[in-house]
Amino acid sequence: MPERARGADVLPAVRPARWHRLGGRLAGDLVLPADPAYDAARRLQQMEFDRIAPLAVAYCASTEDVRTCVGFAREHGIPLRIRSGGHSHNGWSTGEALVVDLSRMNAVSVGRDTVALGPGTQSVDALAALRAYGRQIITGTFPTVAAGGFLTGGGLGWQTRRFGVGSDRVAAARVVLADGRVVRCSADEEPDLYWALRGGGGGTFGIVVGFEVRPVDAPVLVRYDTVWDLDRGAELVAAWQQWCVEGPDELGSSLVVLPSFRPGDTPTIRIWGVHLGSRGDVERGLASLAHRAGTRPRTSTVGDPEPYPDAMHRSLCGDATVAECHRTGTGPEAKGHRHPMTLRTYRLTDRAMTGDEAAAAVAAWDPGLDQERYLLFIALGGQANRVPRTETAYVHRNARFLAGYQYAIRAPQPGPDRIAEARAWNDRAAAALAPTACGSYVNFPSTRPEPHWRTAFFGENHPRLLDVKRRYDPENVFRHPQSVGA
Ligand SMILES: Cc1cc2nc3c(=O)[nH]c(=O)nc-3n(C[C@H](O)[C@H](O)[C@H](O)COP(=O)(O)OP(=O)(O)OC[C@H]3O[C@@H](n4cnc5c(N)ncnc54)[C@H](O)[C@@H]3O)c2cc1C
Repeated sequence: MPERARGADVLPAVRPARWHRLGGRLAGDLVLPADPAYDAARRLQQMEFDRIAPLAVAYCASTEDVRTCVGFAREHGIPLRIRSGGHSHNGWSTGEALVVDLSRMNAVSVGRDTVALGPGTQSVDALAALRAYGRQIITGTFPTVAAGGFLTGGGLGWQTRRFGVGSDRVAAARVVLADGRVVRCSADEEPDLYWALRGGGGGTFGIVVGFEVRPVDAPVLVRYDTVWDLDRGAELVAAWQQWCVEGPDELGSSLVVLPSFRPGDTPTIRIWGVHLGSRGDVERGLASLAHRAGTRPRTSTVGDPEPYPDAMHRSLCGDATVAECHRTGTGPEAKGHRHPMTLRTYRLTDRAMTGDEAAAAVAAWDPGLDQERYLLFIALGGQANRVPRTETAYVHRNARFLAGYQYAIRAPQPGPDRIAEARAWNDRAAAALAPTACGSYVNFPSTRPEPHWRTAFFGENHPRLLDVKRRYDPENVFRHPQSVGA
């Protein structure tokens, strides 16, 4: 759950005239609570944060706008939150604060060795913008996640095994600091800040106003999608994990245990992803998975090799156009869904589960429960694990899977019993993941904060992160409930 901004009860009142003066100084737009656009402006991807009322939302159009907002927040002693794509699972990009929104700073341009990205660039737009250049960048598996949070927290997806985590490919970033300075950081300039911004988590060290990213060389991808019965679920989960651990770096794969969505249906397991090889590689791979699991998929589709942006677009957006794939309410054609209130437990795990561990994981999902809930895994490892743990702030170089449980509550105002039930389910889930857990990914925080979340997110890199934080933001201007120094 998001916390109220620190000191929110005693926020200094800012006179309306001051807010209007701020609006007048911005090239972008300032949205205040009385404005008709306010309800849309305060929304994140997760509906549960609609109840949070920012003091104002500043849609910044330039680095100068961002500097102006930082100066305003400091001058008036009000909290500030940073937002790019609005996908923070725990609502860290909003609060009773001035929300500095970077969604309009989303330009993409191609240089000789790098691609320049605004922090508000969403995955779906990066794919489209880079199509003509035959170059691509690493994205996650959801279309509207933006570079601002994705890259500062790490950046995991189906290309992780072949090309590393997204932040491993950040060559430089431009950052607005708490004191209003704008710095470029790279291996040679502000190297400690550069180190911290690659995995130390967003909303903490400064506001990134531009990234330079080394593109990946991946001309084609093969998409595959399979659906299996749950009756040999534990065997399948264990076999899939071993298959991924032993598989080539070219394999990108996710597994989700799905509830039945219609009366009479039974729960299923979906295994899907993309492969950087041939159709034959995928077909042989899936046959070997079925053999290991001792079962066969209910349905299985393997595509022909497609240009990278097409394959990723189809995987992320289905048949929707680029405009349609955006989050509902953000554009005239946008149809992308938002997420209901969801209680989550996520861990990184460092090996394939044994059969018993997989059975416990499926049992914690609770096949008999009549409730919308998910058990998800995404395969990691490969290139991401060939980088030393302290090379960047992203420490999880032994992680093999991102593993998590999600319990969705669609009732608009769930009662305390419902929340308690969801929490208990999540606690059982956490226990099932504990034997293989090796840490937690700051971009997938659990709803209930872990007691040792600093170590779980950052391991032995936490002391250095604290040091960078003290040097670049000694007054803790950039903060949220689980930021470094919080
Ligand atoms: C449906 C869904 C699917 C996801 N899929 C994936 C996935 O496949 N792979 C993966 O790795 N992650 C995934 N994530 C997690 C995602 O990477 C993180 O939530 C990420 O932080 C979102 O970035 P954002 O800019 O969209 O969100 P925001 O909510 O805008 O920001 C997230 C955090 O980053 C900070 N931040 C944002 N912009 C900046 C900036 N410019 N400078 C400094 N700090 C900034 C915010 O203050 C906040 O703390 C998913 C999340 C959701 C909700």
